[in-house]
Formats: sequence, C-alpha cells, structure tokens
Amino acid sequence: MGEKVNKLNLPLDDYKGGKSTLCPGCGHDAISSVIMKAAWENAIEPAGIAKMSGIGCSSKTPAYFLSQSHGFNTAHGRMPSVTTGANMANKNLNFLAVSGDGDTASIGVGQFIHAIRRNLNMLYIIENNGVYGLTKGQYSATAEEGTQKRKGTPNLMKEIDLCAMAINLGCSFVARSFSGSRKQLTALVRAGMSHRGMAIIDVISPCVTFNNNEESLKSYGYVKSNDTELHTIDYIPHFNPIEEVEVPSGGYKDVQLHDGSYIRLETISEEHDVSDRVMALDAIHKADKDDKHVTGLLYFEEGMATLDDTENLVDTPLADLPDDMMRPSKKSLDKLLADFRS
Ligand code: SF4
Repeated sequence: MGEKVNKLNLPLDDYKGGKSTLCPGCGHDAISSVIMKAAWENAIEPAGIAKMSGIGCSSKTPAYFLSQSHGFNTAHGRMPSVTTGANMANKNLNFLAVSGDGDTASIGVGQFIHAIRRNLNMLYIIENNGVYGLTKGQYSATAEEGTQKRKGTPNLMKEIDLCAMAINLGCSFVARSFSGSRKQLTALVRAGMSHRGMAIIDVISPCVTFNNNEESLKSYGYVKSNDTELHTIDYIPHFNPIEEVEVPSGGYKDVQLHDGSYIRLETISEEHDVSDRVMALDAIHKADKDDKHVTGLLYFEEGMATLDDTENLVDTPLADLPDDMMRPSKKSLDKLLADFRS
C-alpha cells in the first residue's frame, strides 16, 4: 500500500520540520505534532503558510514543523506587528503564529491587544505554561495566584486570563485546550486555520522542567484531573463527505465557517452557546473560581470585518504588482503633499 496522502496529494512528511531540541516531554512538542497533522488534514499548501513567532521555548517550535513554509522569528513580543506588516504585503498567506505566555501576556501584551482589535487574519496559538522556561522558570503573567514552582516561593500576583481578555476585546474565535488533549486540540487548530479573522487558542502546555510539580496549577497531573471540557468538538472539512465523519452519540450543533466547512460541537454536561460572549466569560470565571480549566471553543463569531477588509487590501501580493501601481504618480504625490500643508 502506498503512502497516505492528503487532498493535495502530499504525504504527512511534507509537513514535518527539524528535530526538536526542547526538553523531552515538553508539552510544546505535542502541539507541534498537532499543527503538522492539522495543516496536512486541512490540505493547506505548505508554501502558502507563514509561521510567525517571538521569543521563548514556544517560539522556537516553528523550526520543528512545516519546514517548507515561510518563517519569521521576531524580537520578543513583536510578532503581532511583524505579522501585520507581512499581512499587508501578502494577505493570501495563511498566518500561523506560535507564542508563549511571557511573549504574549507580558512584553507583547500591547501588540496582542491591538492585533485583536484589528481582527488580523491569523491563527494565534499561545503555548501557556505559566513560566519563562527559556530563562530558568520565573513566573509569567499567566501563573495563577498561589501556584508554586518546584523551588521558590508561591506566586502572589493575580494572573491574566488571555481567553477572557480576548473575548472582552471582541476576538471572533477564542478557545482553550490542553497539550495532552490531542483530539480536541487537533479539531480546534483545524477550525482556527479555517477561520477568517483572528483565532486565538490558549493551550495549557506544561513545562516539565520548571512547572510540573504538585503545587503548580499548570502541571500535567493537575490539569489532567481538573479540566472541565465544555463540549466535544469535531471538525468537518468541506471537501469531505459528511458520511465519513464519526457522528457523536449526544446532541450536536454545527457552526459553519466562512469557507463552507463546519465545526461540530457536542454538548456533554451543559449547553454552551458559542455565540454568547457572556456565557463564555461566565464559564471561564466559574472554572477559575473552582481552580479548574475550562476547555473547548469558548466564543465564535462569523463575518466580522478583518484588517484586510478595513484597509481594503489588494488581492495581489505587493511584490507582484507592477511599478506603476506601486509608485504614486507625480500628480497624486503633489496632491498628497498639498493636503498635508493645508
Ligand atoms: Fe519545555 Fe520547559 Fe523545557 Fe522550555 S524549559 S523546553 S517550556 S519543558
């Protein structure tokens, strides 16, 4: 039997990257593996993807997947603005960003906020472990109050919840998952890749070296036994016949994405309306109160204008436009200068 290929006739190997140099067992490696599978299953041309990242253990990971794609490892916390510029130059690329909790919630928090406000068309994955792993495990801004590392004192500061922040800012796709929940995470990443607009997935991804002891609220063991799943989510690509998809045993709800594909939500213990922002925030706060993590698609809104729309970007990448379209004529330049002087 030949090698299994996707709709583009490409094997999964074409979506792989270099060998990981992260600590063995790091949650980030599991996420890299999900990203490769999701891009392969969604049949996205590898050369049509731009991998964007900042600084940190998580931001190193784009070297370990999609080696045939474009990549840009930016300065610390500056990934959203570099992605904005790249999107201006070529809006046809699939922007896939990987960042960490330090990169996103501290040094890059201003950039994160404004990328959401602009509804930049990208998938933004946060590999969230509550510590700065690359610099030996200092608490980050997402470390829960009271959490404790293997060595050192408890964290006394209140954490930033990136999903709650994103929902409050009007993000059109907000989800939370866990690096050990491969099935749920794959479905969410596939849906995020199909979403038009900013899709944020906050993935709790334990740092096995600096934040995996029993007192930590982001350890593998803690999250595994204290994670409340909102619903089972399955992703149905529009080019697959619906008969091929496993039908969930419980009630389900389909949410249609802009490209005609669907995400399917199965309610397990409670009704969660993904279009209800208040219900989503309520679920996050309730879980927080009970020291739990709520996972699944928390909020989704289709059809929100993206930065491409508000800036009226041209379809053709700037590099392919002829010179006469790229350079203003003398007449239009004179008019512009006159406008500034008036
Ligand atoms: Fe992963 Fe922590 Fe090791 Fe960094 S230090 S590679 S986050 S386990």
